[in-house]
Amino acid sequence: MQTFACQCGATLFFGNRKCVACGCDAGWCDVCRRMTAVSSDGHCLGPGCGAAVAPCGNRLAYDVCNAFVPQSATGETIRCRSCQLTSVAPDAGDPQNVHRWRLLEAAKRRLLYDFQTVGYPDAQLTAAPPLTFRFLADTPEKHVITGHADGVITINLAEADPVHRETARQQFGEPQRTLIGHMRHETGHFIWMREIEGQREDQSASVFGDHANPAYGDAMKTYYDHGPAADWPARFISKYASSHPWEDFAESFAFYLDMRSVLDTLRCQAPQLVGAGAGDLPTMLKSFQEAGVALNEVNRSLGLTDLVPEVVPPAVVAKLQFVHDLFQRYVAAT
Ligand SMILES: [Zn+2]
Ligand SMILES: [Zn+2]
Ligand SMILES: [Zn+2]
Ligand SMILES: [Zn+2]
Repeated sequence: MQTFACQCGATLFFGNRKCVACGCDAGWCDVCRRMTAVSSDGHCLGPGCGAAVAPCGNRLAYDVCNAFVPQSATGETIRCRSCQLTSVAPDAGDPQNVHRWRLLEAAKRRLLYDFQTVGYPDAQLTAAPPLTFRFLADTPEKHVITGHADGVITINLAEADPVHRETARQQFGEPQRTLIGHMRHETGHFIWMREIEGQREDQSASVFGDHANPAYGDAMKTYYDHGPAADWPARFISKYASSHPWEDFAESFAFYLDMRSVLDTLRCQAPQLVGAGAGDLPTMLKSFQEAGVALNEVNRSLGLTDLVPEVVPPAVVAKLQFVHDLFQRYVAAT
């Protein structure tokens, strides 16, 4: 993630609600699509913007968002582009739910920034069936399963609890388990539906394997009964990617967005670690892996898990190239 500048020159971070230096309101502007300061009379102070803006309805009512939206002519409260994607929010009567909801919304705003970074058009997210999110808590009667179906991404609210997440991470042997990681993985399934289903299934099968055989349910049963294939490190980006071609796509897609996000951050914060520009996939991968050596050592020096735990074998490069090409199709068209 880049950082941005307030009108006073101080740095604005993605999660800021105010500038800590000059005290003015700050947040994400849905008009110019960047972090910006907002004047006391409600105008975006971002470079070249100046739009009349109002706080997102979820910023006003629940403080789960930091965005500003174009002021409506009628003065009614509206939600930002990111919050509008949440079709089902948790019960806001419970303060713990609101805290977890806030963390999920922050991850979702970061996901939309990812799409902005890679040049994916809004129209592809909003076409029917549109991308939407449900953030749901378990009830005594019903366990909420995190997943994607027909454009709807459901995330169990418990994933916003770090104790739950670490327990699950250990249980499933994952190197990382984060909210933004869930967002990236599940939108991988959405992108498969939007960009591949009925359009490029043969090309996808030639890279990720035949998604129709074995059937998804059978493949998942095999995976949970027997674990990943012994040779998974030579063929997949993660253990879970070996369970079925759809999961392979989603895991490869999530890794691709991880890489793009880290490179975007480094270009802003430590440009000496990466080359200029987005570049082609081999160049990006090389930069990411070289920077990853340094970043892993930084984490190890603090006793943290590796920031870039993945090793990318040649078989996975072709999968990442497939994902990259999906986006480049749109970048080339603009
Ligand atoms: Zn300031
Ligand atoms: Zn603006
Ligand atoms: Zn919002
Ligand atoms: Zn999945």
